[in-house]
Amino acid sequence: MSRTAEYRWAVTAPGAALEHVAVPDRAPLGPTEVLLDVTHCGVCHSDVHFWEGFVDVGDRKVPVAALGIETPYTLGHEVVGRVVETGAQVTDCKPGDLRLVYPWIGCGTCEDCLRGDDNLCVASRAIGLRRAGGFADRVLVPDARYLFDIDGIDPSMAATYACAGLTVYSAIAKLMPLSPDAPLVLIGAGGLGQSALAILRAKGHRNTLVVEPREQGRADALAAGARLTFDPADPQVASLIAAQAGGPVKSVIDLVNSPQTATLALGLLQKGGRLVMVGLYGGAISLPLGTIPVRGISIIGNYTGSPAELGALLDLARSGLLPPIPVTHRPPQEVTAALTDLRDGRVRGRIVLTSQKD
Ligand SMILES: [Zn+2]
Ligand SMILES: [Zn+2]
Repeated sequence: MSRTAEYRWAVTAPGAALEHVAVPDRAPLGPTEVLLDVTHCGVCHSDVHFWEGFVDVGDRKVPVAALGIETPYTLGHEVVGRVVETGAQVTDCKPGDLRLVYPWIGCGTCEDCLRGDDNLCVASRAIGLRRAGGFADRVLVPDARYLFDIDGIDPSMAATYACAGLTVYSAIAKLMPLSPDAPLVLIGAGGLGQSALAILRAKGHRNTLVVEPREQGRADALAAGARLTFDPADPQVASLIAAQAGGPVKSVIDLVNSPQTATLALGLLQKGGRLVMVGLYGGAISLPLGTIPVRGISIIGNYTGSPAELGALLDLARSGLLPPIPVTHRPPQEVTAALTDLRDGRVRGRIVLTSQKD
């Protein structure tokens, strides 16, 4: 099958303007592969780090070259596209279908991948870093099982669900089932916090307590469904939360994960409590080890989420219960400006590169 000329916006040097490079002629598709025309691609904070040439692991910055990623590479992991061509064994989508890409794909053959936890695979092939991503005309997905129907969902919103939305959905899922009035402490009311509050409200949870230093952030959290908010600068914050939680605190999600927030979170947890760490602020704390077994506490790390969780999040979105996040649409050729604006803090909500093709 002949195809039109195809281009990508590639990182050729750390932090430099992305280059519009031609993609070599593609080999015929493998049996499970799907080629999509990119219609929407969100620009994420982690794209800014990858563009600048490192991955932030919290306490240090790992150069992307140390991960075996060679320049040029193509970023963009929040991808919605229209199917152009499918491999011989693909039956669940056809040319013309609009699909969201699950980007956190693994090797596809290890125990984690076969169980459906691709995001935990040690041989990650994540789209938008290890495989070419959505800052491009087209994206090649190795298996149709990583594609999701987004019928009834705004494609720009759907794109953002692949990263931030999925991450907080998965963090919340690690604390479920939880009765609607059991206290859940959420640390951080920025973009992830807003998404978390929306998901918790959609799931019918009624007792979220938000810790957030910014006054505006606390006001936004109350508007988004938090029952109470707290300023971590208050020296009494831990005892105030404990007194007003309406029950023992056994569930905390830390979207910041700094030494201060982790210390607060661990201090709040009652017997059997679970702390889900999401944020990548980094740093280190010293932990009185005896308290972990004696109090039966679990500390759980959360990195993105599984394909099944993305499907469940899309079902929640289809129910109409997730309020929209503000989105700025930009044409793909403005990708470098979009990354720069995001880096410099000039963006409210999300940027989604939107192609005129759709
Ligand atoms: Zn992201
Ligand atoms: Zn794997």
